[in-house]
Amino acid sequence: MTQHQAADTVVIGGGQAGLAAGYHLRRLGIDFVVLDAQAAPGGAWQHTWDSLHLFSPAAYSSLPGRLMPPQEGETYPDAAHVVDYLTDYEQRYALPIVRPVRVEAVHRDGTHLRVETGAGNWRARTVISATGTWWRPFLPAVPGRADFKGIQLHTVEYRSPADLAGQRVIVVGGGNSGAQIAADLAYETDLTWATLREPRYLADDIDGRALFDHATARRRALDEGRSDTGGVASLGDIVAVPPVRTARDAGLLKAQPMFTRLTATGVEWPDGTRADADAIVWCTGFRPALSHLAPLGLRGPRGHLLTTGTQAIGEPRLHLLGYGDWTGPASATLIGVGRPARDAARAIAALLGNA
Ligand code: FAD
Repeated sequence: MTQHQAADTVVIGGGQAGLAAGYHLRRLGIDFVVLDAQAAPGGAWQHTWDSLHLFSPAAYSSLPGRLMPPQEGETYPDAAHVVDYLTDYEQRYALPIVRPVRVEAVHRDGTHLRVETGAGNWRARTVISATGTWWRPFLPAVPGRADFKGIQLHTVEYRSPADLAGQRVIVVGGGNSGAQIAADLAYETDLTWATLREPRYLADDIDGRALFDHATARRRALDEGRSDTGGVASLGDIVAVPPVRTARDAGLLKAQPMFTRLTATGVEWPDGTRADADAIVWCTGFRPALSHLAPLGLRGPRGHLLTTGTQAIGEPRLHLLGYGDWTGPASATLIGVGRPARDAARAIAALLGNA
């Protein structure tokens, strides 16, 4: 028989969102455990490309309770610094995290939720899902994708320009990942950058600080019944972090319109123009990693679930944390996840009768 362990709250995912949830659950005296599929702390930050730096300074990239220390010599810390910070954070607050444990499914089980994992089942009264998006890369359905004989990578597989040095590379995508990876590759490869629309850079003096302030002001306006100031997308798509700015200003980031199909040897635009390529790097985004919640039969647009704040509509014992603005303004950022984590923990305390 499968053994059951029990906790009032099971947090699924031990990246930054799961840690922020743990911080607030602990403060409210709730009995909880965090189950994380990774073997080591740091969530997705362990797997990003080598040159990735945050788009905000350390002090603006902090989880609740503890400021991220600055990284020596860097205004914008790198991913390894974030991993160190998250490692220290979970130790400092002695968060009960079990690794590596992948949650396969969450089922309703009378008054409880049953959390099924490869390492046995957990009985929980409430669940916070904080599994991120990195684990579900999105690739657009471009005709001919299977015909292309060269290398195809998604953002999650890209590591460094050395891997593609001297090759003809097409980077697809006009968001931050596309711009940063194009800038990374601009010096060592024969680069083509294909974007759906002309790249929209934020003003050079805008970084993650201003984005967070904008998201906060928007939340306040909406809470006070004032008119919507627009999401951060209204400011532009690409934060002009120093490497992007440098490559752009050197004329190395000239975007082409999106091609319409792949051939065996490259890509083709609507007017029949072709370009040969050795590799294509798809910087085309992510979807929330929610397959473990499928047994609950909850639905929503674009792979999201419907929520009020972080609480799932149709299953009040379930909260979703960190995936994007649909689970709280800027909740998919280090600094932004603290507030929705606090709200989720408070709602759970009320439901459990701990409030
Ligand atoms: P993750 O870090 O993905 O953590 C989720 C955890 O859940 C992982 O450990 C995963 O293994 C685990 N998990 C997944 N499925 C299961 C399962 N079924 N069972 C158990 N565990 C599971 N934000 C900023 O604030 N500043 C930035 O500069 C910034 N730059 C970014 C650059 C890139 C390229 C990307 C993609 C994102 C960036 N973000 C940035 C956004 C965000 O901060 C990161 O995506 C962050 O990793 C999200 O944290 P998370 O905890 O929600 O998810």
